[in-house]
Amino acid sequence: MEKVYAMLLRLSRDKKEADSLQNHREILEAYAAAHNLKYEPIEYIVSGMKADVLDRPDIQQVINQIDRYKGILVYDISRIARDVGVGDYFKKMCKLNELEIVTPYYRFDFSDPMQESMYENQIQMAATEGRMIAKRHKDNKMARARRGEWIASDTAFGYARDKETRRLVIVEEEAEIIRRIFKLHNEGLGSYKIRDILNAEGIPAPRTAFWNLPSIKRIIKNEVYKGTVLFNNRKEIMENGKRKYKIVETIRAENAHPKIIELKEWFEANTERVARAEKFAHYREKPATKSGTSSLKDLVYCGCCHRKHTILLDHKCNTGYVVKVCHYLKDGSKEKCGNAGIQLAKIEKRVFHDIKREKAALEKYLLSLEQNDNSELKEKKLKRLDQIKEQLKDLDDKDTNLLLAIVAGGFTAEKIDMMKTMLATQRMQLEGEEKLVEAELKKLEVFDEAENVKKIIDKMERLEEMTPEQQNQALKTFIKKIHYTRTIPEEIKKLSTRNPLRKNAPFKLKIEYIR
Ligand SMILES: [Zn+2]
Repeated sequence: MEKVYAMLLRLSRDKKEADSLQNHREILEAYAAAHNLKYEPIEYIVSGMKADVLDRPDIQQVINQIDRYKGILVYDISRIARDVGVGDYFKKMCKLNELEIVTPYYRFDFSDPMQESMYENQIQMAATEGRMIAKRHKDNKMARARRGEWIASDTAFGYARDKETRRLVIVEEEAEIIRRIFKLHNEGLGSYKIRDILNAEGIPAPRTAFWNLPSIKRIIKNEVYKGTVLFNNRKEIMENGKRKYKIVETIRAENAHPKIIELKEWFEANTERVARAEKFAHYREKPATKSGTSSLKDLVYCGCCHRKHTILLDHKCNTGYVVKVCHYLKDGSKEKCGNAGIQLAKIEKRVFHDIKREKAALEKYLLSLEQNDNSELKEKKLKRLDQIKEQLKDLDDKDTNLLLAIVAGGFTAEKIDMMKTMLATQRMQLEGEEKLVEAELKKLEVFDEAENVKKIIDKMERLEEMTPEQQNQALKTFIKKIHYTRTIPEEIKKLSTRNPLRKNAPFKLKIEYIR
């Protein structure tokens, strides 16, 4: 089959950008026609600058069917990558497979070191430019926030964005609802009550079918309603090996747009909100010294709606911790979930009983692990891994030797090319195998979990000697969630809480172990 050029064409959802991308396409097509290049268009959409090679379908397509292509046709080197790593990876693949990269201004043939180095420079520049574009974009956004313009993509409920002034303007029907929420809150009603009132009256909620707790809380907290524009400048950081966003600067522009709530009223509502939250935190179980921690903290989930159950320490009677009735709304409706509450001790008793059963199962599992010895296989893999590392080192030497030979002269250009390709192919194969063996070793390590299982069994044995805090910590190492369901028929719900029929209404538990 005749080889063709892969024409990389970026698409955009943004209309302005789509226009300039159409120009790029026409320029490339004209270039291909003038130089008699047969091509196959590969269209792709990239959002954001730092797409990983693995996330770029166009680059993947080229690599997967690399034998079909003679080269890459692209408007500009920056279209390949604004990241040195991606650009370099792509170059290596092209070089190994003898693909050239063609732009309307320049053809990069990687068998020529000068052209290779020019490509590298251009990728460097594209990367620098990418960082500058991102910075300029961020600086612009922040300057506009400081002026009080609304820069977020979504507007807050109660407002719309004026396209000309770029500031928020009040949407009267929505603003009425916001005022109502603040009024109810300042009259002393909690978020649960406010939610129920709005839903009962059939007042439409922003974005969701019905009002829920987070939406009410978000509204009370939102400074936008007192006329403030708030913008958090975030920076991506690594913490414990995970990507996180940290706020490095907060911009606040007061009187940026018309208020829906007067300052005095807004501050009253929020002082009250903080006070209520603190008061509630006093009762709500948390590792505070006053209330202590229950053994099942953060482990009990509603079996009906799957949200976490609130556990409170009941100060009034001597019942100790209580799992409260589920207050959340059923998905997509305004009906409350209503999974009934219970004394925590009752759940605890059954959980501890189930742990005994799980412990017996784990002991059996441990036995099977110990009979299934993998140490020999592991030894073999480790040995192979050492060999691979040796071979890779050898290749380094060979590379150096080849270089010396080239410098000394005596080899033909073809011979040099052949040897280079051979060495590079060997290296790719070895590096591939290295990754594979490492992955296999990791899998074998799972069987090292005999030690882990022993630790869990030990924890299960000592549970009863522990304080509730210690129990809670221990339980969380082997239990993911406890699904708790207690549906009480309406007639029985009407009875007093002391009535044995109601008191002893059955409940179901499903314990999700981490294994
Ligand atoms: Zn529920």
